[in-house]
Amino acid sequence: MNHSVSALEFQGKQVDAKEFLRPILFGLEEEDLEGLAQAAVQRYYESGEVIIREGDEGDAVYFIVDGSVEVVKEYDDGTERFLHTSGPGEPFGEMALLQEGGRTATVRAVEPLTVLEIERDPFLGVLGRSPSLSVRILVRLTGRLKDSDQQAIEDLSQANEELRKALRRLERLDRTKTDFIQVSAHELRTPVAALLGYAQMMQQNGKVQADPQLQMLAEGVVTSTKRLHRVFNSILDVSRLMTGGLQVIRNPLNVSTIFEAIQSEFGEALERRRLTLELVGLDQLPPCSGDPDLIYKVFYHLVNNAIKYTPDGGQISVIGRTSEAEDLVECIEVVVEDTGIGIAPQDIHLIFEKFYRTGEVALHSSGTTKFKGGGAGLGLAIAHGIVVAHGGEIWAESPGYDEETCPGSKFVVRLPRFVSPE
Ligand code: ADP
Repeated sequence: MNHSVSALEFQGKQVDAKEFLRPILFGLEEEDLEGLAQAAVQRYYESGEVIIREGDEGDAVYFIVDGSVEVVKEYDDGTERFLHTSGPGEPFGEMALLQEGGRTATVRAVEPLTVLEIERDPFLGVLGRSPSLSVRILVRLTGRLKDSDQQAIEDLSQANEELRKALRRLERLDRTKTDFIQVSAHELRTPVAALLGYAQMMQQNGKVQADPQLQMLAEGVVTSTKRLHRVFNSILDVSRLMTGGLQVIRNPLNVSTIFEAIQSEFGEALERRRLTLELVGLDQLPPCSGDPDLIYKVFYHLVNNAIKYTPDGGQISVIGRTSEAEDLVECIEVVVEDTGIGIAPQDIHLIFEKFYRTGEVALHSSGTTKFKGGGAGLGLAIAHGIVVAHGGEIWAESPGYDEETCPGSKFVVRLPRFVSPE
């Protein structure tokens, strides 16, 4: 609510607009001053009332006669940032008139306020005739912009500092979690290893071998225990990678040898799932520089995933070639490609995070080489950590996720070539 001249009787004071504006707009021709005074309407606002709303069309400029205003920016989430206050003799609202755009901030009375309101046309007309007044207004606005830039920089660096603190806190929490997981996996692995030993002894026992049902039960215990053992080993691998406790031995290494072992590891699963594993160009690759046990794990997890996420009867191709990384270090490149369900674009980077699994976790079945068989979500985190520890690169490519059309996925691993010491 605002009140024009007649309501000023409420304040009991009628301002002489011309004499009020004279010192503020000094240097104006008497005629222009007279014109502005005639165009001016005196208005009164109560404390808390909004005079200008950010985004509204700007059609007037205001000169504070009495009281003060605060100028704020409003954000979508309902919060606002204070810009500055203005008091008697100061104008506001001129920016939108000069820009011929919407109001750039909200102006609110912080105490009972009296202003002179002058409409756009008379004000701009006078400005056009008075270069010195235009320059003064521009200087004032530039000062405001500088202040608000400064304020924005301070706000940004404060927000940055808070983000940095939050990140440090999260890193500490993540370390605590990794430490806890590492200790638990360590503690649990020993009894599981013992359990596996006993279960395997049970399998050898004559009475068990003579009874098909006992044999089946013993086999179930062995399979599940092996699976548990593998999960604990993977967890320990990840935590070693996270804590930098991984020892990398750099020897000349032929990737084709690694794939001989991988082929025999997954031979039975490939046959059962009627999947073809095709190896192309691996035996022509020069040796890379790597730790055989660790590089084995990288390709173990990639081929295991290709098996898991490709429907029965599909094809897995492993292609070897030489390439140059961006920093021009000579590399070997091994691409593991499948005809499986593919990966959605929003997951393609996240899958390398530890414990990250796409889709409905409850729907994962539990066999490691079954179609969409369950895993702990660690394989790619381990592969990534190992490749990076070797100074290499790993990434995934896929046209998208679709269980019907099976667009397939491609995992590219780059490892530096072995260079013999001079
Ligand atoms: P998991 O134990 O769940 O397989 P990984 O770290 O090996 O964990 O993989 C993380 C996620 O990446 C998987 O849950 C799966 O959704 C996706 N993924 C990995 N490899 C493939 C692939 N070849 N095809 C489709 N999705 C894949």
